[in-house]
Amino acid sequence: MGNLDSLIWQSRFLDETPGDPVEGGNPRQVPGVCWSRVKPTETKDPILRLWSQEMAERLGLTNAESAVLGGSGIVTGMDPYAQRYGGHQFGNWAHQLGDGRAITLGEVQLPNEFLELQLKGAGRTPYSRFADGKAVLRSSIREFLCSEAMHHLGVPTTRALSLVTTGEMVTRDIMYDGNPAPEIGAVVCRVAPSFIRFGSFQIHTADGNYDTLRTLLEHTIKHHFPGHNIANDAGIVAWLKHVAETTAEMIAHWMRVGFVHGVMNTDNMSIHGLTIDYGPYGWLEDYDPNWTPNTTDASSRRYRYGHQAQIGAWNVARLAEAVAPLMDDVESLYSVLEHYENKYIEFQNSNWGKKLGIDDFQESDETLVIELNELLQKVETDMTIFFRLLSHLESPTQEGITHAFYDSENIPAEEWNKWLDKWWKRVSGKPNRQSMLNANPKYVLRNWMAQLAIDAAENDDYSICEELYNLLKNPYEEQPEHDEKWFQKRPEWARHRVGCSMLSCSS
Ligand code: AMP
Ligand code: MG
Repeated sequence: MGNLDSLIWQSRFLDETPGDPVEGGNPRQVPGVCWSRVKPTETKDPILRLWSQEMAERLGLTNAESAVLGGSGIVTGMDPYAQRYGGHQFGNWAHQLGDGRAITLGEVQLPNEFLELQLKGAGRTPYSRFADGKAVLRSSIREFLCSEAMHHLGVPTTRALSLVTTGEMVTRDIMYDGNPAPEIGAVVCRVAPSFIRFGSFQIHTADGNYDTLRTLLEHTIKHHFPGHNIANDAGIVAWLKHVAETTAEMIAHWMRVGFVHGVMNTDNMSIHGLTIDYGPYGWLEDYDPNWTPNTTDASSRRYRYGHQAQIGAWNVARLAEAVAPLMDDVESLYSVLEHYENKYIEFQNSNWGKKLGIDDFQESDETLVIELNELLQKVETDMTIFFRLLSHLESPTQEGITHAFYDSENIPAEEWNKWLDKWWKRVSGKPNRQSMLNANPKYVLRNWMAQLAIDAAENDDYSICEELYNLLKNPYEEQPEHDEKWFQKRPEWARHRVGCSMLSCSS
């Protein structure tokens, strides 16, 4: 017991939606289908490097089978496939994308849920286009650590079970500047109720294949949204509102903790409102709403921190458009976008109330928030440290938040004292500290922290990965023994370092 082959494997997605008659094969267009059967690629020397005990327990696994989790072989019951989907990339319709380097092993039936297990980096599929279907250690560590950290921050996310190095080298040109270099190959096994995306629906509408669109939607509703019924327009709109709401809630959480996804293309939007596809993401350190970690997006900054809520709305609009052909009267789709906006404001205000310790946050408090946003941008100020120190502030003077400023010689003290005084009066000197401490994390996976873990792992030392994995299991706890090392602003060496301030989609 406790092995992968003792789990109850199902293939509901394969059984209920149309698929590619050909198994495997070269990258190609596969019109009209939702998936293609593929086999993960054998690896030379699979070694388990990171393991989520929590996910293992949830799945009932006691044994980490590194060969299978690295892509070498499958067990009875698994029926692996790559999903076909499309998407808008950076605002442009890209048509067929699909799982170019993700391979689903199957769905595991548990007493109270189904969980899909998917390998990322296990080789080519019909959707790999010109790429190799592989993943490198650096991006795999970033996905493993961040998805687990997000879960513990209370942000809806896909999870990670394992990280296996393959014993093979994979060539990547990190900054796309003509300097390809070999890197250590790795495979992450990630876990979610499903990996169905907005783009999973879009592709069939773009093809004009409304039968497949309906079949996929019926499958999705039956298993993942059982309270919904899409027999008529009102039912479809109600379901879209549900998706809009979970998406708005997820993005409001991103804003609360300072997370920037970096590539909010519609193929990277989970139908479950989960954070998915960890690529060139980043965490706000200096509070700059215009910041994006993704160098590929540096010129237009479409996916910058302060724009994520609007992009969420844009993406929900694309999903609504995608299901429109199944409706008689599409006018009612506008209500989905209104719902998104109203819910986002509601979640955002509720989060601001918690971050500032204001129990009865009202519209009139928005001025306080606007002024705070301006002040945080006056000089380089660390978002995470500021809110954490604010949660502990004993009196409304800037001395208590000094650690948040990057240049201690240059603090707009007078303006801060004024704002702090205003906030202090608003909470009558008694901010709700418990709600602040539960909304303002002390530890997040800053890019330079991930980079230190990566640098060590590339030299065969996974101790920093383990340290961060454990630290970030309790991001709202003080953990004073870690203060000096990890409750810190970005060090100078990380300011312009690739992987810290600059990230690309190359992974
Ligand atoms: P992303 O922006 O990382 O979500 O990727 C966009 C598309 O490119 C998806 O269809 C991916 O499956 C595909 N892709 C990304 N990297 C690779 C790779 N190394 N090999 C094959 N396909 C890839
Ligand atoms: Mg993706």
